[in-house]
Amino acid sequence: MSEVAGRIAGTIRPDIRELSAYPVAHAEGCIKLDAMESPYELPEAVRDDLARVLRDTPLNRYPAADLSELRQAVKAAFGVPAAAGVLFGNGSDELIHIVVQACCNPGEVVLAPWPSFVYFDMAARFDHARFVGVPLADDLSLDLPAMLAAIREHQPKVVFLAVPNNPTGGAWSDADMAAIIAAAPGLVVVDEAYQPFTDRSWMPRLLDAPNVVVMRTVSKIGLAGLRFGYLAGHPDWVAELDKVRPPYNLDVLTQAALLTVLRHKPVLDAQAARLRADREPLAAALAALPGVRVFPSAANFVLARFSGKLDGNAVHLALKQRKILVRNFSNAHPLLAGCLRISVGSPDENAALLSALQDILSA
Ligand SMILES: *Cc1c(COP(=O)(O)O)cnc(C)c1O
Repeated sequence: MSEVAGRIAGTIRPDIRELSAYPVAHAEGCIKLDAMESPYELPEAVRDDLARVLRDTPLNRYPAADLSELRQAVKAAFGVPAAAGVLFGNGSDELIHIVVQACCNPGEVVLAPWPSFVYFDMAARFDHARFVGVPLADDLSLDLPAMLAAIREHQPKVVFLAVPNNPTGGAWSDADMAAIIAAAPGLVVVDEAYQPFTDRSWMPRLLDAPNVVVMRTVSKIGLAGLRFGYLAGHPDWVAELDKVRPPYNLDVLTQAALLTVLRHKPVLDAQAARLRADREPLAAALAALPGVRVFPSAANFVLARFSGKLDGNAVHLALKQRKILVRNFSNAHPLLAGCLRISVGSPDENAALLSALQDILSA
């Protein structure tokens, strides 16, 4: 063993050494349907506005302590109740860490229906909590009795509910969510990363129960490059979580860009509405292919199971050879056997995907 390897083996945590880094595919020249990004860029007028604002944003000073202008703009743009507090994160990934760090002593439990967003599991482990994933039903719906039993058994400090869920696309019913919130002894984080693609939201009921916060991101509505997420909840919850937030976690360029883009919020809404309208036709066309099952989705992606002549791994590879990237979940969890997650793209991208699949599956 080299000297560096020896030092690493004696220093880096064994569970970290065993991990591989979060996979981000190289996408040069590809149709990118693997990460739920919006295929739509901002219009020229908005970009001109951004250029003006960013030019006048000083970079020599740390971000201001008073974020009240941004807070007001975010609350107004996204329908956060006036009485709620909001916490900002460098993407909602950072907010997930903040919640776990603020709530969990080493070994205490973070729980979520599973499969769900992999970062719930990763963040919990990085922060020395214990992650418990409660299996979904075979049809990838929520298994409420299993959730309630697991909550009773493990007494989780934090429950993450991604609604709609990633990577399955399903949205848990209000009644099931209310039952989980009532049973949970600690904090329930409703992760609404995909809320813009459905009419459902827990936001109006945010302050009804004493143990709920709602987390959202702008990543899925055309601003994945900005790295901005927010968490809304009772101001006292937000004040506690804020103590763990790294100082200056939101840089001045992100703040300025976000304020500017939010002045053009209808542009983002129209783009999200377009993706939402294109979801069902894409799902129907996929379901019409031989050996393909599509799960119901309330998000800007669909999960499809390939169990005909070619399985998920083979279809994933064949698409990649045609420079179309989708996310392969075939080997991620037994419930996801053969499954690929496909973002809704632009009409041209969706058409290219469907014609490639026709080709691949009929060969
Ligand atoms: C994409 C996603 C996020 C991550 O959002 P960022 O703001 O880009 O960090 C959070 N939760 C779920 C369920 C997601 O799918």
